[in-house]
Amino acid sequence: MFGASKKEWNDWRWQLRNRIKTPEGLKNYFKNFTESELKGLELAAKKYPIATTPYYLLLADPEDPSCPIRRQIVPLYEEVNPEVQKFCQPDALKEEGEIPNLTHRYPDRVLLTVTTMCPVYCRHCMRKRKVGKPERAITEEEFKKAYDYIKGNPQIKEVLISGGDPLVLNTERLFYFVEKLKGIEHIEVIRIGTRTPVILPQRFFDNQLLRFLEKHSPLWIVTHFNHPKEITKEAKLAVRNILRTGNPVLNQTVLLKGINDDPETLEVLFRRLISIGIKPYYLFHCDPIEGVVHFRTSLEEGLKIVAALRGRLSGLAQPTYALDLPGGRGKVPLYPQYYLGRKGKKHFFRSYTGEVVIYLFG
Ligand SMILES: *Cc1c(COP(=O)(O)O)cnc(C)c1O
Ligand code: SF4
Repeated sequence: MFGASKKEWNDWRWQLRNRIKTPEGLKNYFKNFTESELKGLELAAKKYPIATTPYYLLLADPEDPSCPIRRQIVPLYEEVNPEVQKFCQPDALKEEGEIPNLTHRYPDRVLLTVTTMCPVYCRHCMRKRKVGKPERAITEEEFKKAYDYIKGNPQIKEVLISGGDPLVLNTERLFYFVEKLKGIEHIEVIRIGTRTPVILPQRFFDNQLLRFLEKHSPLWIVTHFNHPKEITKEAKLAVRNILRTGNPVLNQTVLLKGINDDPETLEVLFRRLISIGIKPYYLFHCDPIEGVVHFRTSLEEGLKIVAALRGRLSGLAQPTYALDLPGGRGKVPLYPQYYLGRKGKKHFFRSYTGEVVIYLFG
């Protein structure tokens, strides 16, 4: 449908240049629109930008409105329905603070957003308030402010570079930031949050990027796979290329209603992730952010899913289920109850199969 040569298709810049960014563009590909999708394309697309790479678009089933890829790129009316979104705020986690582009929530680490642009605008994005509105990278002056703050606060040991998607920057620009930050004596760890292995794996077919990744390893690359359909041969190749440069790859999944909120889907996802060398790091409960609340499941459902995965899935493949507390109070891990309490020397545990086991000790 895009008439691209193989060389063009595998070129990340071609993929970015040829993003589908209009409701009409999506209407050319998808069929069988639901009423909510049609209204979403008309109304939600005016409030929150839409975009997808040609690569990610073609992973979606054009016929099926419940396709997990389609649900991540085609807006529903629920996104802007005031009845649905009424108790939510655009920045419920209070990421915006004194220094633009910088969130300092925990003593030892900061989040730095270097661009508002993403190759794909995920409908469930918790930074919906700013991604793509408009698309722009931080200026030298803005970076300098964040840099000075980090330099002046020696308790900060780690910088998490995020966005938007930092990998949309050209390689020299991104690594200018990385080098500057690594040059601060108290910075020990750089983490890069990027969805490019999922929605633009061609980014890692770029030898210049791979050379820079190798030179600066270890950078902790944290990506965002939500569904097994996203683990394609291109994604595998991208991850292999990153791992070859000596950089570990972790994954954060968001628990999303109608996309991955069942143990079978997540079991396959996490199993495939470890099989290609990615460690599932977090499974996030979806945040009460304006524009995404229709993707939320209940906490009880989330805990039930996590309990079902325990025991039937390798420990390597188990992420930490967590939610972000409102107002920027940080993440909390959530666990099903396995220790039921004690009576004298008798301790009561629940096994992964649900059996209550008594364990005697002091
Ligand atoms: C999630 C987050 C971090 C990183 O938390 P980890 O538990 O170390 O992954 C850091 N800063 C902010 C603002 C965050 O939201
Ligand atoms: S790639 Fe990440 S930051 Fe960008 S729209 Fe998707 S979830 Fe949001």
